[in-house]
Amino acid sequence: MKWPVMNGCEPWCTHPSVFGKDPGAHVCAGVASEPIDLHAEPGELDEEGVRLPRVQVMPLRRALCAPVVSLLYRLARAEVVVYLTADEARAIAGELCRAADVVDGHR
Ligand SMILES: [Zn+2]
Repeated sequence: MKWPVMNGCEPWCTHPSVFGKDPGAHVCAGVASEPIDLHAEPGELDEEGVRLPRVQVMPLRRALCAPVVSLLYRLARAEVVVYLTADEARAIAGELCRAADVVDGHR
């Protein structure tokens, strides 16, 4: 596992605005994916109508922590964030592709 650089941003950080007086409190964030609407999930009704859950992925390094892949699952009124190591993210991505191929009839 790669250990964090504690006195500066990760090379992929696009979040320099929060690099303040305390480098130990800085959160490095890379470019996030576009939000992905989950059409197989039931939508939730809120004041704007029916809203589908969304997933968004981005590289992240919290203060004093190793870099991770952040997976945000956003509902209309709540959100769940899962932090994955790079190996875990690759394993899940591979299994998602394998299962998607099965569902699509490619295997
Ligand atoms: Zn940074």
